[in-house]
Amino acid sequence: MQKIIDRFVKYVKIDTQSDENNPAFPSTEKQWDLAKVLVEELNEIGMQDVTLDDNCYVMATLPSNVDFNVPTIGFVAHIDTSPDYSGTNVNPQFHPNYDGKDIVLNKERNIVLSPSYFDDLLQYKGQTIITTDGTTLLGADDKAGVTEIVSAMEHLINNPEIKHGKIRICFTPDEEVGKGAHMFDVEKFGAEWAYTMDGSQVGELEYENFNAAGAKVTINGKIVHPGYAKGKMINSMLIANEFIAALPKNEIPQETEGYEGFYHLHGMSGEVEKSTLEYIIRDHDFKLFEERKVTFQKIADTLNKKLGSDLVQVEIKDQYFNMRKKIEPVMHIVDIAEEAMKQLNIKPLIKAIRGGTDGSQLSYKGLPCPNIFAGGHNFHGRYEYIAAESLQLATDVIVKIAELTAERAK
Ligand SMILES: [Zn+2]
Repeated sequence: MQKIIDRFVKYVKIDTQSDENNPAFPSTEKQWDLAKVLVEELNEIGMQDVTLDDNCYVMATLPSNVDFNVPTIGFVAHIDTSPDYSGTNVNPQFHPNYDGKDIVLNKERNIVLSPSYFDDLLQYKGQTIITTDGTTLLGADDKAGVTEIVSAMEHLINNPEIKHGKIRICFTPDEEVGKGAHMFDVEKFGAEWAYTMDGSQVGELEYENFNAAGAKVTINGKIVHPGYAKGKMINSMLIANEFIAALPKNEIPQETEGYEGFYHLHGMSGEVEKSTLEYIIRDHDFKLFEERKVTFQKIADTLNKKLGSDLVQVEIKDQYFNMRKKIEPVMHIVDIAEEAMKQLNIKPLIKAIRGGTDGSQLSYKGLPCPNIFAGGHNFHGRYEYIAAESLQLATDVIVKIAELTAERAK
């Protein structure tokens, strides 16, 4: 396991933070640093067709070692870390044989990772917890995934008695700014299906995510001197208030879970003459998702009717869709992952993602792509951590999936 840990540490020490405000691709030059290291390392361990394209996607092949046809499968992870928190000078701390108590990340600044707040920690009692020093994120999201894929490929190369078909791997930039799949060359990748190694706790297996849209409401008013405003002034902010109040009160992020969708007001600005509301609309169910968009428009129509003028304008843009629609026709790819976990005594935790994933975009681009745990917790901040044992388990899952895919093709 030490080799996997060392590999993980090597990757997290390379700053690869992406930048949501830079339209360039990749959004930051420093992502090339890790991409180049990976190219070198993949060549070293004996991978073939190792390529780094103009958009900073690393791809490589592990050829089949059997003489019958096996579907080509892929594994995908992202090299960038979140713009939400610093990824400069990541300094991993090791807490072997974790005793279930508070972990002091930074004594000077009194930063503590406590199981009384983050109770997930307790499931890793007795294991080696890898944390930050409290000043940066860790980058287990998703350098854990990168580590696990490289380590699994190395394991397969060094253990040729494990039979597998052709395996393709890809490391993408800019996942954290929602563009990891944008320049992904699905045809060049050439896999029948793939898995992103980008989930959180051990056992996670996901093939459903939200259908998502962004909505902007613009409300026009009319300004008149307040002393002489009777019957003349139209205060756009008060109409905005009516719009907000007309949406179902409980269908908001802080009141919903599981398969419950929501409307989320994430921005507003206003003065008498003009107000804007920024919403995101989310639902796993496509029909309910469409209905939510209709509800949104209806509120605007009702207000306009009442006001006698089209003062309320709604602009709705679809953002991404639930990959379930693309996975259901090929459910065996989820079954294989589930079976792999069971054979390794890992309890599969199959649940719907309350968000998006690169896998959903890839699925719609023709590469069905469920998501598997990479092992980390508390992504995008200083409390991020991973158990070293989880790095090993996810590596084992990849190996097992490769093995099972070949077995089933016999
Ligand atoms: Zn991630």
